[in-house]
Amino acid sequence: MRRLLFFLFSGVLSSVALADAPTHHWLVQSDDFADEMSPIRRADIERMLLRNRLLLPRHVEAMVLPAQIAPASLQWPLAANANFIGFDYHGISNFVDHDARFPGFVTDYSCGTRSYDNAAGYNHAGTDYFLWPYPWLMMDQQQVAIVAAAPGVIVGKSDGNFDRSCAMGNAEWNAVYVQHADNTVAWYGHMKSGSLTNKLIGANVAAGELLGFVGSSGSSTAPHLHFELHAVNGDIIDPRHGQCNASADLWAVMQPYEEPTINALSTHSVEPEFVACGVANGQPEEENPAYQDAFEPGATLWVFAAYHDQRNGEITHFSIQRPDHSIWQAWDFDLASEGLPKPFYSGTGWDWSYVLPADAPLGMWTLNAEFQGQTYTHAFTVGSSKSRDLAAVAAERARIAVLLARCRGGNLPLSADCISTRHP
Ligand SMILES: [Zn+2]
Repeated sequence: MRRLLFFLFSGVLSSVALADAPTHHWLVQSDDFADEMSPIRRADIERMLLRNRLLLPRHVEAMVLPAQIAPASLQWPLAANANFIGFDYHGISNFVDHDARFPGFVTDYSCGTRSYDNAAGYNHAGTDYFLWPYPWLMMDQQQVAIVAAAPGVIVGKSDGNFDRSCAMGNAEWNAVYVQHADNTVAWYGHMKSGSLTNKLIGANVAAGELLGFVGSSGSSTAPHLHFELHAVNGDIIDPRHGQCNASADLWAVMQPYEEPTINALSTHSVEPEFVACGVANGQPEEENPAYQDAFEPGATLWVFAAYHDQRNGEITHFSIQRPDHSIWQAWDFDLASEGLPKPFYSGTGWDWSYVLPADAPLGMWTLNAEFQGQTYTHAFTVGSSKSRDLAAVAAERARIAVLLARCRGGNLPLSADCISTRHP
């Protein structure tokens, strides 16, 4: 009996490679998706909003009831468009900086340092939601919409500004400003040019209603939404409650400080191609994922996994299964094994390559990842081109199963996130 157990144990060991090192990695640093705003620019916006509010017809003002914005009422400000494929589309690079000192004094709502300030005195005043893993491609294809977090009246819009910024500067952004029933105002910034709602200043918007699409206009280093909330007196409100922010949490569903998630799990013919900026030599540029879901025996298979909020010690169990569900490859991955400078990144991407055997069984294979209690699956075919459509169906079903599990878990207040991605 002991001998049998030993064999079983060694059998498991031989099929799980504990350290299949990734070939390349991509890491999101705090300033990869960041922004700044000069006091002059900020004052200009506040004057513009004041002027617009004064010009609103009286009947619109009358609809703005002087009530308190209900705590726990904000809805998720992003929604996947119908053309989004993947498990998740975002990460959060920076929260509000609660430490008024600068530079180099940073405290987020949870007493961590996921924020920034600068020498000019700017303390990051909003929450940065970035597109991941292909920010420029996702922006160009309008895969992620910005939607109203709360109902209100549009009190300002700016559009038509350059939207492929890759650096800080003093450029004007594209933005929509929504005033809520309690007269707080939400700023939705860095939108893609020409993607803003057609609704005019003074029009009502419902929670979840489309305001525009994520871009990189204004002083911005890459495509992200900067969501900023203002009190009636102009003070910044951080809608996240934590040990370093005593005010009430305003989100309908309280969001975790870290949300370890696999955004993408995919197969490729070559390594996905990333870009440093959305512009190269004066021309627009975007990432090239080089997706491939159909392979021949003997071909090289690239595996890519992208995460948001990945921390040392969180193990992912990867496996590649043959059509009969037997395991062809299995390996465990831990960020800690990479010896990187930080134990946590708000966005990561990793790839591995494998050569399929010349006698690889034909049919539908799966790439699987178990991470933080969630299973992610991507299907691909080997051989027969006939089975490709079947693979697409299976992959879609697997993806939906994961989405449904997440939506059922109640961590997504916005039904649009769950519903819209269900019908690609
Ligand atoms: Zn920001």
